[in-house]
Amino acid sequence: MTKTILVIEDEPAIADNIIYALKTEGFEPVHCTTGKDGLEVVNKLTLNLIVLDIGLPDLSGFELCKTIRKASDVPIIFLTARSDEVDRIVGLEIGGDDYMTKPFSPRELTARIKAILRRTGNKSSEIQLDQNLQQTSPKHFLIDNTKMIIYYHKKPLELSRYEYKILETLLAHPGRVFSRSQLMHSVWDVPDVSLERSVDSHIKSVRNKLKMIKPQYDPIETRRGFGYALKVDS
Ligand code: CA
Repeated sequence: MTKTILVIEDEPAIADNIIYALKTEGFEPVHCTTGKDGLEVVNKLTLNLIVLDIGLPDLSGFELCKTIRKASDVPIIFLTARSDEVDRIVGLEIGGDDYMTKPFSPRELTARIKAILRRTGNKSSEIQLDQNLQQTSPKHFLIDNTKMIIYYHKKPLELSRYEYKILETLLAHPGRVFSRSQLMHSVWDVPDVSLERSVDSHIKSVRNKLKMIKPQYDPIETRRGFGYALKVDS
């Protein structure tokens, strides 16, 4: 089966080289030049790997990686032009699988990609399962993750940190049911299972805030005994 690789890179010459090399190796490349467009593709397509430039025009590749990691284990290779960025990739748990320093040879990149795909073979099938469940992204929500604002029907929601993170997690995978424990682990810095019920109160508060904008519709679904999901057609 053809493997789909998302390339998020704003420099045309570099992107062209990568895309050419990927096609030559039989991959199916998808190209975006901004983080925002990249995130949309991540939410819509089944991807096997992402090549992610750190210096993007709208947001940093680090931020984007963090957002992607909340919802998906898809392998990520960073592209960087700066050695201090390498320090961050190596030193912190950003969540990338590998990195390439510019300038690099596209053949070296495709070799790394193949190595990572061999190593993480099972992860991509897991993602395919998720992505199949999630064919539409919610049209009435918009996340500005540089300002940490979520818009609903074009109106900004005033959310606390936990509320923001819970909604962001649900939004990243519309239709997918998250248990209280899963939400807690993706949102709280120090998850405490004894506080799982507080997820409920945060959800309740998010619902109230959504309701103030659109009273007749509740985009969050409660699945009794399982958890919460964002309705796909929200
Ligand atoms: Ca760049």
